[in-house]
Amino acid sequence: MKRQALIGAGLVALLLLASLPALAQSPAGMKLYVFTSGSLGGFPKGALQIGGQGNIDWAPVSFYVIMHPKGNVMFDTGNNDKTITDPDGWWGPLAKGFGLKMTQNDAMAAQLAKIGLKTSDIKYVAVGHMHLDHGGNVSQFPNATFIVQNDEMKAAWWPDVGYSIYYIPGDFADSKKYNMIRLDGDLDLFGDKSIEFRRAPGHTPGSQFAVVRLPKTGTVVLTSDVVYLKESLEKNLIPPIPGTWSPGAMYDSYQKLRLVRDGERASIFYGHDPEVFKATKQAPAYYE
Ligand SMILES: [Zn+2]
Repeated sequence: MKRQALIGAGLVALLLLASLPALAQSPAGMKLYVFTSGSLGGFPKGALQIGGQGNIDWAPVSFYVIMHPKGNVMFDTGNNDKTITDPDGWWGPLAKGFGLKMTQNDAMAAQLAKIGLKTSDIKYVAVGHMHLDHGGNVSQFPNATFIVQNDEMKAAWWPDVGYSIYYIPGDFADSKKYNMIRLDGDLDLFGDKSIEFRRAPGHTPGSQFAVVRLPKTGTVVLTSDVVYLKESLEKNLIPPIPGTWSPGAMYDSYQKLRLVRDGERASIFYGHDPEVFKATKQAPAYYE
């Protein structure tokens, strides 16, 4: 028994050592800022989760800035600033359908000013996918390098029948001019494991989530819409069409998320979960 206990302790020590480098390589000074691009609300929960009952009264439209010594990174970009003055014109019936609320304080420049940045200070813009509440402001970063899954750009430009409603061509009309990294898989952005993008299709053909390993906080997963709600991940519930493009791929992507969550004891920040969002520190507060 004693020998087994020793072997067990040895294995635990080895595992702990194996898990250290990921954190140790994350540079000091790295910070994660959490924002919401206005809000949604007053729509049926069933739009986010098959069988969901009642209404969602308020939901965030999350996006993030990560400060890293090698450059500032944005993950998702919120709703197009044009929805501040013309929500119905830009979003059509979805603006009222999802209870979109945007004010001048939600404009991208005003949001970045909270943390002392301008749009030109963002070096990389990655999106979880190109839907209107995530790719809305990509055109505001013409000098950044844009990071997206290749088949997500194809889906945005030429959506499958029945899946076009959440893509607004005006959001990315100038995308041919972007300096673009088109992924077909995962990317370790700076080669230090501090920021990784993981391909996770299902919600859309080219969805991805971000894994951010912070020096003090540890691992945080930014889901975009790979999963909408904490409850959906815990109960394995997916959205109805058009919120699910491929059910099988979506379940696989949920599992991919759980492996990071459980393997690294990661926190998960969801794209639209009201309770999880309210419990997070919001910019200008930050995680380090
Ligand atoms: Zn969304």
